[in-house]
Amino acid sequence: MANTISKYESRVCPSCGCSDTGSVSVASKRPAQSIDLDDLQSHWNGFFKEKVIFSYSRCARCNLLYCPSFFSSGQLEALYEQMPDNTAGVPLEALEKTQKGYFDILKNFSFEKGGYLETGPDIGLFTKNIISDPAFDQFWLFEPNRAVWPTLNRLADSNRLHLSAEMFGFSEVPDTSISVAVMIHVLDHLLNPVEILKKLRIKMAPGAVLAVVTHDESSLLAKITGNGWPAFCLQHPQLYNPSTVETLMKEAGFKVVRVQRTVNYFPVTYLFKHLLWAFGFKINLPGWDGLQIPLKLGNILTIASPE
Ligand SMILES: [Zn+2]
Repeated sequence: MANTISKYESRVCPSCGCSDTGSVSVASKRPAQSIDLDDLQSHWNGFFKEKVIFSYSRCARCNLLYCPSFFSSGQLEALYEQMPDNTAGVPLEALEKTQKGYFDILKNFSFEKGGYLETGPDIGLFTKNIISDPAFDQFWLFEPNRAVWPTLNRLADSNRLHLSAEMFGFSEVPDTSISVAVMIHVLDHLLNPVEILKKLRIKMAPGAVLAVVTHDESSLLAKITGNGWPAFCLQHPQLYNPSTVETLMKEAGFKVVRVQRTVNYFPVTYLFKHLLWAFGFKINLPGWDGLQIPLKLGNILTIASPE
């Protein structure tokens, strides 16, 4: 059994490549890197009484908070395959409001007519805000979950809509054809964010706009809840803040135009339940989804342009 423990990957900083980290900054009582892979699988989905995460340290050079020890890409692939919808439990109306908020920020930025590209659109809650914009001639959606494809297919005619099951398989997208690219809660999950962003950059037109939503590890909520913050989890090999996301973008050839804290809409009971869970109380409350409140829950929207 002990031999599987050594099978986790050792990582250098995924942003600047530096191998020097300070001491551990965020960790669980039993760190994931000390637990056998078979045991760790049971912690992968959702919330557990005992929180188990890989320890996060800060890069000595660029300050990025990342896990120097993490799952390999093969292990991650297998884990994601058996993962249920991660927003299960939040009613559609609340999710739609949150996505509309991202769109309202994005539409303040001007861009040339061209293609639209989105990775991980899920059922298209963000995409449907943008689909009627006459500025876009082609829509390139990269969504591995084929179960949502019928929903996505209804968004536009088949001569304008291109669906791919490969999350970052951009090869069919003509170079410099994309005027807006969107990645919502994608970048936190990637083992190699710089490589992916560089691939994307080649597809983007001069003056194009990239909109990226990530968690903010410098948020008040992250500070208050410490390692109980839900974004500290087995699915996030690194987490950004406004400064480290800017460094990452620079490494990939993007210039950050704006970083903005965003609002998430949640039903009150959902929030209360998860707040209790964050502090270690696993309690199920009756659903009362009618009342939704906007909260700045430690998410940031970064707007960048290719340099
Ligand atoms: Zn670094």
